[in-house]
Amino acid sequence: MSKCAWVTLATNDSYSLGALVVAHSLRKVSTKHQLAVLITPGVTESMIEKLQDVFDVVQLVDVLDSKDSANLAVLKRPELGVTFTKLHCWNLIQFEKCVFLDADVLVLQNCDELFEREELSAAPDVGWPDCFNSGVFVFTPSVDTYGKMIQFAETSGSFDGGDQGLLNQYFSNWSTDGSKRLPFLYNTASTATYSYLPAFKKFNQEIKILHFIGETKPWSQHFDSSSKQVQTPPGYNHLQCFLQMWWDLFCDKVHPSLTQEMSGIAGA
Ligand code: UDP
Ligand code: MN
Repeated sequence: MSKCAWVTLATNDSYSLGALVVAHSLRKVSTKHQLAVLITPGVTESMIEKLQDVFDVVQLVDVLDSKDSANLAVLKRPELGVTFTKLHCWNLIQFEKCVFLDADVLVLQNCDELFEREELSAAPDVGWPDCFNSGVFVFTPSVDTYGKMIQFAETSGSFDGGDQGLLNQYFSNWSTDGSKRLPFLYNTASTATYSYLPAFKKFNQEIKILHFIGETKPWSQHFDSSSKQVQTPPGYNHLQCFLQMWWDLFCDKVHPSLTQEMSGIAGA
């Protein structure tokens, strides 16, 4: 069995729907590595059972929250303090190397080559490319690193109130160490469609991992269950095919096993 794992995080049932699709997208591209998900007590028992069906490891962790409402308000995402919970991924020391994936990504091609990269490898953020986006990153589990990061969080905080600010401060030489810079195709932000549409049109066939960043998540889009089509919000029409891929996978692999209550979270 592989000593490497893909790791994601879900603190509630709606992000768990994302995590389930992430896992199925990884299986679909035939990854040879294990799948792990960190969950917190906010995930219901019945959802945990669904996660156990597809993940090799379902690890319960406690919520770490930055409680930094001031910086999160600047970011306009008050809910992201809990993303500090991500730091628990460094405690998965049964694995030698891991790649963290946000629960709002869709893996489109096999990316097992990422495990040859060193900590901390990540792709640039679209908003400020000298910072990395923390939705996809390569790391080496270590209790020692975890302890240092928690200590760092307590003394320095996070400049955006979420995990991305903290990780960028901790791995502060990322932007000057070229070997740690992953191509944008490994974490293509959905907003790239409107920030640089010609590039999106030229390269969209080459995207390896698409990341639905921002408040609008695939599972919160309106889905027409009779036509099986997802309706994209205004300004999102270039993402239609990717949102549809997310929903096709959801309908094919996830939805059939969900209870009515669980599936009610999606497509509202
Ligand atoms: N997350 C979670 N519960 C929350 C918010 C975030 O489990 O209430 C996790 C989830 O894995 C998510 C990640 O933290 O993908 C980062 O949050 P999000 O993807 O919403 O941030 P964005 O990529 O939009 O900046
Ligand atoms: Mn995300």
